[in-house]
Amino acid sequence: MADGRIIKALSGFYYVQDEVNKEIYQCRGRGNFRKRKITPLVGDNVVYEAENKTDGYILEVKKRENELVRPPIANIDQAFLVFSATQPTFNTQLLDKFLVHIEASDIKPVICITKMDLVSESEEEIIHNYSKDYSEVGYEVLMNSAQSLSGISEIEEHFYDNVTVFAGQSGVGKSSLLNAINPDLDLDTSDISTHLGRGKHTTRHVELIPFGSGLVADTPGFSSLDFRGIEADDLWLYFPEIREKTNECKFRGCTHMKEPGCAVKAAVDEGEIKAYRYDHYSSFFTEIKDQKRRY
Ligand code: GDP
Ligand code: ZN
Repeated sequence: MADGRIIKALSGFYYVQDEVNKEIYQCRGRGNFRKRKITPLVGDNVVYEAENKTDGYILEVKKRENELVRPPIANIDQAFLVFSATQPTFNTQLLDKFLVHIEASDIKPVICITKMDLVSESEEEIIHNYSKDYSEVGYEVLMNSAQSLSGISEIEEHFYDNVTVFAGQSGVGKSSLLNAINPDLDLDTSDISTHLGRGKHTTRHVELIPFGSGLVADTPGFSSLDFRGIEADDLWLYFPEIREKTNECKFRGCTHMKEPGCAVKAAVDEGEIKAYRYDHYSSFFTEIKDQKRRY
């Protein structure tokens, strides 16, 4: 018996990387998993037994830290939220939506701003200001370019000893970044126009690719981004700067929407909380309430 981690699932087989020798063993799930409703996931830490490289069995799936539905991966340490500085334009509303999802999944977000080689001087200033805002909220922000290779080694350092998933719209440069870090990967990159209408990743299986002593998912996360599963009344938890102020609100259970004596709104008025972040909070809040009403 040995410990390992599932790094790939394909056609009923699980590919388990041994924790000690790092070799990969092809395994099947134990016969009684189905009856016990256990579905091993890529990323799962397991106990397995293998006679040889192609004939193993997973005996036990250990408790998960967290899991994503799309892509189906467990025990993710961090999500790189990939946004381009330009082409497409940096979109803070979408970034905040991603941040809410990733905070709700209990995964550490890292904001990764790509295509820095393409920005004009005025765009660069805007991006740096956003970077400062998000850093002040407590997020890590990395800026880089797959074209000029600036900031690439910094990303690489973040991969060590972690399981990382990339998330972001099509065309922001996720594949280009991974290729820049590891040219052997040779992931398919293409113009934004050819992305439209057909997800290039839709038919692929999920795999964790070893990067140094870390693992990176080759399939981007969050293909769908509605707020199902997130309660409006919990939304404040997923904005760190709002979470920090909540105790100071006059009413317990303040939603920070209309209540008097709201410390969050006061902080927005004083510029301590960025108005655009609060605006996103309040529009997401309304969106979730409306969504609930429709069901
Ligand atoms: P993905 O859909 O997020 O994987 O994005 P891709 O990696 O396929 O990149 C989409 C397009 O943006 C391609 O045409 C890339 O060549 C281009 N691109 C990606 N990264 C950069 C970059 O850092 N600089 C420039 N100038 N173009 C980039
Ligand atoms: Zn409040």
